[in-house]
This record gives sequence, C-alpha cells and structure tokens, in this order.
Amino acid sequence: MQTKIFWLGHASIRIEAERTIYIDPWKVKGGPRADLILISHSHHDHLSPADIEKLRKADTVIVGPADCASQLSGDVRTMAPGDSLTVGAVRIEAVPAYNPRKPYHPQANLWLGFILTVEGKRIYFAGDTDLIPEMRDIRADIAILPVGGTYTMTAGEAAKAAALIQPGLAIPIHCGDIVGTMKDAEEFRRLAPVPVEIKAPS
Ligand code: ZN
Ligand code: ZN
Repeated sequence: MQTKIFWLGHASIRIEAERTIYIDPWKVKGGPRADLILISHSHHDHLSPADIEKLRKADTVIVGPADCASQLSGDVRTMAPGDSLTVGAVRIEAVPAYNPRKPYHPQANLWLGFILTVEGKRIYFAGDTDLIPEMRDIRADIAILPVGGTYTMTAGEAAKAAALIQPGLAIPIHCGDIVGTMKDAEEFRRLAPVPVEIKAPS
C-alpha cells in the first residue's frame, strides 16, 4: 500500500499506510480511527484530549513524552529523546525538539520530534523546534517541518534544516492557523534546496 500523508491544518498530520497514524491531532473534522497517535508535546494545539477521544479505538496506542502520557489513559507509551519503540509494523524513534534561545519549548522538558519508519520510508515529524544541531544526524525520506516562526523555525531556518537533512520531500506545517501564514510555506518552498509539497489542509 502506498503511504499517504494528509495535513489536517496547523501541526496536525494523518499518515495512512497499513495502519492509520495521527500526529498531534487538533481540530480534526473526522477521518478514519487511529491505530497509533503520536503526541509531540503538551501545548494545547498539539495535545488535545478531545481530538484523541474522537479518533481512538479500544486498541489505539498513544505515544508521547512523560508530561503528556500522565494526562492520557489507555495504552499509553512514554518516550524521551533517544528512545525507540516498535508498534505493530511501525518503528518510532523519538528525537529532540526544542528552542535553544527562546522560552517556549525548553530542552529540559524532553519534548519530542519523531522519525517513523512506515513501509520502508523514514518520515521525520520535527515537532515544535528551532534549527538544532541534532538535525545533522537526522536522515529521512520525508521531512515534515514547522515554518511559522515565533515558537518554531521560520521559513528560512526550516530551509536550512532541509539542507542538513536532505529529504526527498519536505512538507511545511505549523502555519495557517495560530501562527505563521501560507506565505511562510511558500517562502520555505522558495528557499529549501529539496523538493517541497505544500499540502492543502484536509
Ligand atoms: Zn508548542
Ligand atoms: Zn505548536
């Protein structure tokens, strides 16, 4: 089965492969139930218990950092940066996501980005992060990068991240809602040295 990635607006992603995976579901309008839900950190636009309730089934696995896991019930798995975990056929690597010089996402919070290996493809979801040195070690076929600035990378910084990671495809997110506009996504496409797909929100 061909892996499909849907942008649900802001920083919310659905991956459809043999399993249905959501990352940071927020303001979801429907769609298939989740086999796996990944939460990057506890800000309200990323950890939304109401959205998780809409999407979960009896056997949905939920993965997140410790401060998110403590707010959720069911089959919840805690990860910290550097951890890896396999759920069904999906391998999950947790990687750091933080702001080195801004207060919004302290490194000490152990909040997360994820690299998922789904049907042989490595998909990097950066989380709410600035351009950080750890990105030098990230290899991915597809990189989903925040571009809206303020709390995360700007379009220009995300283009530098894409240059480090060299994915076959980059997808800009964290724009078009609370912070950042679609102009940031277009600016990222202009600056990034890799193919960029600006998704329409679905
Ligand atoms: Zn955040
Ligand atoms: Zn955010």
